[in-house]
Amino acid sequence: METFALDIGGTKFTLGAFEGDRLILRESRATDRESGPHAMWPQIESVFCGWRERCGFRPDACGIGFGGPIDFTAQTVTLSTHVGGWAQYPLIPKLEALSGAPAILDNDANAGGLGEAYYGAGRDADPLFYMTLSTGIGGGIVEEGRVYRGADSFAGEIGHLNIVPDGPSCLCGSNGCLERMCCGLWLERDYGKPARELLADPAFVRQYVVYLARGLKAALMILNPARIVIGGGIAKAGDRLFTPLREELNRQMPAWSRARRDLEPAQLGDDSVLYGALALADQRFRASRVAKV
Ligand SMILES: [Zn+2]
Repeated sequence: METFALDIGGTKFTLGAFEGDRLILRESRATDRESGPHAMWPQIESVFCGWRERCGFRPDACGIGFGGPIDFTAQTVTLSTHVGGWAQYPLIPKLEALSGAPAILDNDANAGGLGEAYYGAGRDADPLFYMTLSTGIGGGIVEEGRVYRGADSFAGEIGHLNIVPDGPSCLCGSNGCLERMCCGLWLERDYGKPARELLADPAFVRQYVVYLARGLKAALMILNPARIVIGGGIAKAGDRLFTPLREELNRQMPAWSRARRDLEPAQLGDDSVLYGALALADQRFRASRVAKV
């Protein structure tokens, strides 16, 4: 039983081949933000065909985590806020034609949440809220092993909560959004340095966690999750981010709330979304494997 998993992000995209639950092949490449799918698709084809020819890879299902809003019911990409050309791109039909296997799509935060819930830091935590802190910011809600998507596949969009009144303009048309204040794309534009350099400065981190905690507080107040897992490149900063972030979140939460403040970095590193794409394919195409592992 083999699965072809894709993680399509605003900075990089990663392809994975799973044999059962084991990631046996993996390749990551930079995303060309200008050309969108037209530059990426030929690379996906070429990696897949290489794996098929050299390794005999024959998936019986495919899963995709996409870095932007999607319509889960229609199984279409709505758009990518960071990369052009994706709106209405026929990703599912193209992938099914290429692989000869059925494919399923969700946004990357939902997929990342599912990956961590089944295989990572969320295994013993239900319900789970997952936040990806990367080029952009997204959220995924997982309860009893299933993603909560809401009525229109737009639940969990924590990145566009307004956390700084009259803050700078966000790509979404609003201002002062969590994503605008805290994501990798804007940190680099605002400060001229990548996030990992900025987070090496404790003074910067003290200010940064105030904004981040405002977003996480909203998740705690609305969802009361058993755990919040944070994935994406910025979450790799480890204790120098998580220790002050936990302190700030405790400070911001009202004293009367007994909601737990269990905040952990993702365990699957760069592969939360790939594992989530695997779990998604299992849930849709292999009903017998739905039980939590
Ligand atoms: Zn916004």
